[in-house]
Amino acid sequence: MGTASTLSRPQWPHGPSRPQQTTAPLPERVRRLNQPNVSECRRRSSIQRDPVEAAPPSRCSRLDAGLALDAAMFTCHRIKFTVPPFHRSTVPPSSSPVPPFHRSTVPPLSSTAYLYAMPPRVANIDQELADSLAAIVGRRRVLFRPSELLTYSSDGLPSYHKQPGLAVFPGTRDEVIAIVCELARRRVPFVPRGAGTGLSGGALADGVVLIGLNRLSRILSVDAENGLAIVEPGVVNVALSRAVAAAGLHYAPDPSSQAACTIGGNVAENAGGPHCLKYGVTTNHVVALTVVLPDGEVVSLGNSDGEHEGYDLVGAFVGSEGCFGIALDITVRLSRNPEAVRTLLADFMSIDEAARAVSAIVATGIIPAALEMIDQATIRAVESSIYAAGYPTDAAAALLIEVDGAAAGLEHDVATIEALCKNGGARTVRIARDETERARLWQGRKKAFGAMGRVSSHLVVQDAVVPRTRLPDVLAEIHDIAQRHRLRVCNVFHAGDGNLHPNIAYDASDADETARVHVAMKEIMTACVKAGGTITGEHGVGLDKLPYMELIFSSDSLAAMCALREVFDPDRRANPDKVVPVHSCREWHAAPAARRAAATV
Ligand SMILES: Cc1cc2nc3c(=O)[nH]c(=O)nc-3n(C[C@H](O)[C@H](O)[C@H](O)COP(=O)(O)OP(=O)(O)OC[C@H]3O[C@@H](n4cnc5c(N)ncnc54)[C@H](O)[C@@H]3O)c2cc1C
Repeated sequence: MGTASTLSRPQWPHGPSRPQQTTAPLPERVRRLNQPNVSECRRRSSIQRDPVEAAPPSRCSRLDAGLALDAAMFTCHRIKFTVPPFHRSTVPPSSSPVPPFHRSTVPPLSSTAYLYAMPPRVANIDQELADSLAAIVGRRRVLFRPSELLTYSSDGLPSYHKQPGLAVFPGTRDEVIAIVCELARRRVPFVPRGAGTGLSGGALADGVVLIGLNRLSRILSVDAENGLAIVEPGVVNVALSRAVAAAGLHYAPDPSSQAACTIGGNVAENAGGPHCLKYGVTTNHVVALTVVLPDGEVVSLGNSDGEHEGYDLVGAFVGSEGCFGIALDITVRLSRNPEAVRTLLADFMSIDEAARAVSAIVATGIIPAALEMIDQATIRAVESSIYAAGYPTDAAAALLIEVDGAAAGLEHDVATIEALCKNGGARTVRIARDETERARLWQGRKKAFGAMGRVSSHLVVQDAVVPRTRLPDVLAEIHDIAQRHRLRVCNVFHAGDGNLHPNIAYDASDADETARVHVAMKEIMTACVKAGGTITGEHGVGLDKLPYMELIFSSDSLAAMCALREVFDPDRRANPDKVVPVHSCREWHAAPAARRAAATV
């Protein structure tokens, strides 16, 4: 193993083999992964070792996150952080005693062993483990029988089934910490799970332990004056907005699943939503996190000012898809409710015209709060369901457009958008008269996936991003792919930021149709990447997008992601086998000498 001082730097992340992603407007989450903070480590800045490291770490009082990176590529450093005052004073005291922290009980791995350690394939899940977890949470909160575990074998994407070996449901943060410490002691892999609404198979635990966090559903504190709230990870997204509504505030990221999904799951996926066009996705609203690392250590990332000293580890954690540890509490920004809101529904007789209207609106400089497209197949599914919103069923596509802000000037924006739509071929432009009509228009959009359940027994919701101006071409190509494979594809998506959601309705018991769905999905992803886009805008990579990672990332970039992951989880027990194709890590780690040689050329 060469020392860092003798190493030449690999060409990362801008090496010659890097594919065309530089031209594509990558979503924030992907962009972050591709430019990880670890690049800073390579500069070997003088980060100090935490002097209190030798003492047993107290729960949530001190962070000593080790940046133990691949020694062949990076130098190891230690970073220390302290818990900011806002954090310390507002998190209520624990309800149960803090379990002793046993760093020494986790068998130490040498850094060389880290390099070659693959995620454990066979987890040691037995009655003894079930008993020890039951001692922490109570017998009722541990599921071990296959019939009980069936519920947790899927998430929102029905095309994957992986049964956990055991599921455990803590009710307090101390129980979560105790569970993670116990799993670390036994070196058992685990998968955090919120509400299980994910659409990339991210919360599936294949024979390992599933940790359900939905019982941690308390809003710990609200600081209305400073627009901040601290929540437990199992708080349902919409519950936070409801809780702060009386103070004239809301939590801006609003996934269409917001009535069910948790803020912990949103953080892990860097979730977006219709109103993220103007207000930004989850990463723009999370200022601090308390995290239990997979080895049981509790660390605090960021602070309530949103000004991070040193590396942006909150930015690294948001979007880490459960691979960096478990978010125990999350400090989020609350947004003030806009003074005025206007919602428009424009319907078009051609998808192409609707797509062009999207670009025309954004080109004026007006940033709508939301700009969504709903195609005819989706409109018909919605209108024949209990979520009927009054969308015209003969339209090829409808745009749901919302503008908000100060009342002065808003009517001007409404008039401009109305004129643009009409000039661009809109048949009618309807403006919601009141809050009831507005809510109804939104209900149709937000419940569209549910309404599609009427169309067929199974639905694959896809997620990709393309440059807005390429929407007409890409939508036409998706239509061709669907025709060629004799599949029903509906589109309902965040058009304003080019975030497509082609949904394929099919019957999973029909093997031939299922096979065609898989081929079509791959062709759709390839078409989006070719158009300068990327493979996920908000649903994450999980299991579903693993095969596509190499379409957009070079092996050097994938190896850098592995290195970043190992900072948080050196033996890769947290959400194993997700996000980065395993062979990327294996290949990278297998041939350090060859890499060094290549880097020195
Ligand atoms: C009808 C429908 C509409 C949707 N609309 C949108 C949308 O508009 N925008 C959007 O972005 N997504 C959308 N989604 C996808 C999904 O709701 C989001 O990805 C959401 O963030 C998942 O939250 P969850 O609580 O269900 O997480 P889960 O599905 O349970 O888990 C998702 C990931 O988060 C990890 N995780 C969960 N909790 C934690 C934690 N506390 N710490 C660390 N990791 C954790 C899991 O390991 C997993 O990798 C939609 C889904 C459905 C079914």
